This record gives sequence, C-alpha cells and structure tokens, in this order.
Amino acid sequence: MTHSRFSEPIFKSITPLLLTLFLTFPVVDYVYAAGAKSGSLPYAQSSDQHFHPKGKPPSKHTLEVIKKARETMPFSDKRDFEEAEKGFIAPLKSMIIKADAGHVAWDIKRYEFFKEGRNFDSIHPSLQRQSTLNQITGLFEVVPGLYQVRGLDLANITFLRGEQGWIVFDPLTSRETARAGLELINDKVEKLPVTAVIVSHSHGDHFGGIRGVVDPDRLAAGKVEIIVPREFMLHTVSENIYAGNAMNRRLFYQYGVLLPASPFGHAGQGLAQNVSAGNLGLLAPTRVVEEQLEEITVDGIKMIFQNTPRTEAPAEMNTYIPHIKGLWMAENVTGTIHNIYTLRGAQVRDALAWSKYISRALFLFGQESEVMFASHHWPRWGNERIQEVLRGQRDAYAHINNQVLHLANQGVTINQIHNVYQVPPSLEDDWFARGYHGSPQHNSRGVINRYLGYWDANPATLIPLSPQDSAPLYVDMMGGAKKIMDRARQLYDEGKYFYAQEIMDKLVWAQPDNRTAKDLLADIFEQIGYQQENPGLRNSFLAGAFELRSGIPEGASPDSSGPDIIGAMSTELFLDFIGIRMDSKKAEGLSFSINLITPDNGEKFAVELENATFTNVEGFLHKNPDLSITIDRSDLENIMMGKKSFAASIKDGTAKTEGNVDILAQLAKTLVTFQIGFEILPGTASIAAAVDLNPYEVPTESSNIRGE
Ligand SMILES: [Zn+2]
Repeated sequence: MTHSRFSEPIFKSITPLLLTLFLTFPVVDYVYAAGAKSGSLPYAQSSDQHFHPKGKPPSKHTLEVIKKARETMPFSDKRDFEEAEKGFIAPLKSMIIKADAGHVAWDIKRYEFFKEGRNFDSIHPSLQRQSTLNQITGLFEVVPGLYQVRGLDLANITFLRGEQGWIVFDPLTSRETARAGLELINDKVEKLPVTAVIVSHSHGDHFGGIRGVVDPDRLAAGKVEIIVPREFMLHTVSENIYAGNAMNRRLFYQYGVLLPASPFGHAGQGLAQNVSAGNLGLLAPTRVVEEQLEEITVDGIKMIFQNTPRTEAPAEMNTYIPHIKGLWMAENVTGTIHNIYTLRGAQVRDALAWSKYISRALFLFGQESEVMFASHHWPRWGNERIQEVLRGQRDAYAHINNQVLHLANQGVTINQIHNVYQVPPSLEDDWFARGYHGSPQHNSRGVINRYLGYWDANPATLIPLSPQDSAPLYVDMMGGAKKIMDRARQLYDEGKYFYAQEIMDKLVWAQPDNRTAKDLLADIFEQIGYQQENPGLRNSFLAGAFELRSGIPEGASPDSSGPDIIGAMSTELFLDFIGIRMDSKKAEGLSFSINLITPDNGEKFAVELENATFTNVEGFLHKNPDLSITIDRSDLENIMMGKKSFAASIKDGTAKTEGNVDILAQLAKTLVTFQIGFEILPGTASIAAAVDLNPYEVPTESSNIRGE
C-alpha cells in the first residue's frame, strides 16, 4: 500500500531536535538522535504488518536462528523480571510527554507491542526479552526512602529521601521528562523540595533534564547542591564536537532514527526503549568530587563517592550510601555489556580500566551492599546477587580486553577478530552480561582498534582503492550485474546472508542507480538485522535496508544550540571547530593573524591562518596582529550560538577591534555549515524525494513510504 502524500522532509522535524541534542552538543553514549525519533516518527500500523511496502518477513533461515535462541538461552532465569517489577508503586501518569516547545518529547506507548505476550519472529528473543523488561515502567520503591521512576526516558531518575527533601540521581535527558518524574514522586510518595542533584557522568541522558528538577530560586539561594565527578564540565561538551556531524549521521544507523517502533523496525535500544527529545540543559555544579574517594554529607545523608574516570564516560562516579547499604553504580554496571566502541563513532574506551573500577567498587562497597541500583535498568537486591552481577560485569570487560589481545598477539586482526572472539559460556548464560549496547562483535574490533589501530598489517589494505573505484573492476571480473544477482539470490535463498552481502555490496557500489540491486541488498541486510541480539547492530542493518529502499531524506542543517550547552563550550573548542568548518581550498592564498581577548574570563588566543590552515593557541598573543578583537566571553557566546554576527557586535560596541576588520568577512567565506543528510550507501541520496514519512501528524496512517 502506498500513499502519495508528501510531507515535510523528515529532517526538518528531526534536525531541531538533533540540534538541541547533538550538534554542538555532545552526545551521550547513544543516541541523541534516537530521541529525535520520539518527536518525529510515526507509529507502525500494527505489530503484524511491516511498516515498509518493500519490507519482508523473517525468512525460514532467520526463523531457525530465532528458534534456536529461544530453545538454548536461559529463559528459565526470571530474576530480572522479579527485580524489574519489585516495589511497584504507581504507573507513569502518561506514556506520552509533550515538550514545552510543542512537539512530542517522549512516547513509550509506541513500544507497548512488547506487552502483547507473544513472540515476534523478526526480533531476536534475547532482545525482545530485554525490551519487554524495559517496558516495565512507573514509580518503584527500591528500599524505604529510595525510589526510581523508570520508563520516562533513556535513563532512570532516582530519588533518595534526604533530611529536608529529595536528592535526585541523574535527572534524565529533558526538562519535560525530569519534571514529570518529580511530579510523580511528589504526588505518590511525598511532596518535598529538591535539595541536591547528583549527576553521575558527562552524558546528556544523565544531566540534560536538570532544569526540570532544580528550582532556580532555591539554587540561587544556595539551597540546592549539584554534585558532579571530576572534569565533568570539561567533558560534557568536548567529547563529540569535532566529528559531531558525522556522529549524528551515523546515529541514523546505530539508533535507527528513521525506523518506526515496530517488530520489523525499532525494537528498543537495549539501555531502555529510546531517548526523549525535549529541552536539554546544563547547570554548573556547586561541588565537584575531586578525590578518587570522597565522603560528603548531602542533605544530612552520608555518601561516599568513587570517581571512575575513562570508563563508560570520561568523567563518571559511583556512590555508596552506607545507611541503606545502597550502591549506586552510575552507568558502570547496568543490565548489559556496554559499548567499548560506539557505532555512532567515538574514541574507543578502556575495557581493562573499566573492569578494574568495578573491581574496586566490589571490594570497597560490594562486600556489604544490600541493594545496587543504576541509571539504566532495574536494581539488584541481596549481597549475593550484587556480588554475582559485579563479578560477572568485571569479568566480561576484562575478558574481552585480555582475550582479544591474546588473539591479536597471535596474529588475529581487526578484520577477523569478531568472527574469532568468544564470550566464555558461563558469562553467556548471565543475562546481565549480554550485549544490548556493546556487542562482542563490535567491542572486540574496538579493543584491537584501541591498541593497534585500524590496519591489519596486510599491505593490500594499507592504501586500498576506494570502494567506488574497486567495485566496477570486481563487477566486471565477476561477469556483470545479472550474474552477481543470480548468485546473490541463490545465497539469499540458502540463508548465506553474509556471503550475499559481500558480493551485492560490490555491485551497489559499482552501480548506484541499479534499483533491483539495491532492493536485493536491502532484503539481505534486513534478514541479518532481524537475527541480531544487539539493537545497535540490528538498527544499523535495518537502517541500511531502509535507506536503500527509500533513500535518505533531504537535509536541513541545524543552526543554533541551547544556551546552557554553548555556555559550557570552551572558546578554544569553538576556535578549533572553526578550523574544522573551514574549506581549506577556499582559504588558499589567505594569510592573517588575529588576537582574541576575552577580558571577563581572562583568556587570550593567538589565532592564525596560514597554509590554508586555521590554528589557535591559548595564552599567547601575536606581537603585530592584523586584527585584535576584545570581547567578553559572555558576548562571544551570542556569536557562538549564531544569534549575532561579529559585525553586529562590533557595531554595537560589545566587540572592540583594532586593525583590519575585513579579515572576518574573508574568514566567514571559507566556512562550511555541515549538512547531516550525506550519503552512506551509494545511490541513496538520489531517491530522497521518494520518502514520505509524516511524523506524528497522522499516527494511525503509519509510515507511508512511496515506492518508486
Ligand atoms: Zn546513560
């Protein structure tokens, strides 16, 4: 069934959200863009019907994989369900939350198909199990005085009763969802002011909603503490600026931003179902935990903080609360193995350091803890269970680090390791050690990448041809498109999808306009996607199938970002990013030096354009610059946000200059604004006009995608 109704290009609705969430701002580990989804993507028509006219059901080979998993995985271990349901107090007031800006910021109702109580053959049973657990939502009592609201966002929001009010752990991604969490607890448990917010780490799903729980007047009056780990502010914005646009585009794969929630599409994100897309903010901390271990009394409650830098986030900390024997493991220990390498793209994390910090927590606090809770998933009760989970997680990270290097030291390369590395069987049977965020496949490649880089030391892969250049030769040598497709169909029919993908990928690169080839490759990707336990892998294959069938939507580029986030961005980072935005071909022949002075924060920069390269160095000034600019950092932020031009700032006197102001106009001409809709798979940009997804406006009509 097709409809010819054309809607606004989906990017128009996605980008403001992406923008808020990602662009100048860093991403969380996962997906900000997926959050965008909740504000902009449609419902699938039903859980029985594929949302895409070209979509296929699971093949008999996929059914076999699914069936085998159902029969061999430890489904009789139901402790996670008991833990996820324990202490239920009240349901969410609404499964759909509107953003203050008017769009839908959160919609977990789309995932209610997980409560239908039946098996979906297009979802790996382990992933279906995890997403079913993540659909257990509401307000829960963890122990008396400690509460969690789950299912309001990607993360949990946790409330601890202090002497005077609520101590909040990790106030979600958006102001709107965090506010809903606070309302729920005030309504159902006790109406109290928020006295403190503890932010466990520098990812946006853990601090972005802070303005939804902190009363600005109480904060100004010194009645609210905001406690963060060491180097928190540095890392909130620095992790993802430089390659931000590429990361955002890749989120369409890892997080399946274009996929409707459906057994044939987005089936949860593993950490939770999705990310909210409301107003993301940031407030400066009142206290930074600097020491490796630090005891602080917060609203009358004694707490011990453990900094765990360079684990799940560059700045992160666990917290132990002795009076309830409660261990808050931040995002270091949840109900999944995490990403060592993140598919959206990021620097590879240190699995060994991560394991060691879990070990320290186990010996520092895990010996006496009676309840362990975290920023995603459900708590664990009882010391035995806590030690089981801590040990299992510790070992899962150490094992992948050690065994991958063990294999690499015997010659296994980054191009083989994912087919060689195996999780030990005892860990395979632990649900909490399975890969709903990181997978053994992509994490094992990440470990090699961290230590040895991308090259496998085969000279043939050292300076390889680009795929578009090598593919035509392959296709020619293989006897042309028809022969390749005949063989690929045969492989497809035999369920040999990875072999089929290998040859069809070559054909699509060689013939980007070959519609039949793209459709066949999409069918292959789709079956591989259905078979994946890990949602990042599943989404990547299903997103690839989607774009091959429907093209990528036309892009509109974001143009601003939230003031909190810009405020947290250093001037150096801003200048560095100008260097990245510069098209060096347009800067050839230009040469100038600029001094930039921001008196209100005491910074100065020597900026230079030479050799078509824009550089800056903090703490130095040129002796004879071509241009000198003096502007308060607070005024510079308006320029950084795109609210005001340099020219206007000079005109109204907020910026003072000396020298050749024309340089700024020359500089501006070299800068490019990145577009998010660049092509990943060949021949997908050209069919953009065929996309007809109308977000939310007509939720019952589903995603009506026009075929060709
Ligand atoms: Zn998180």
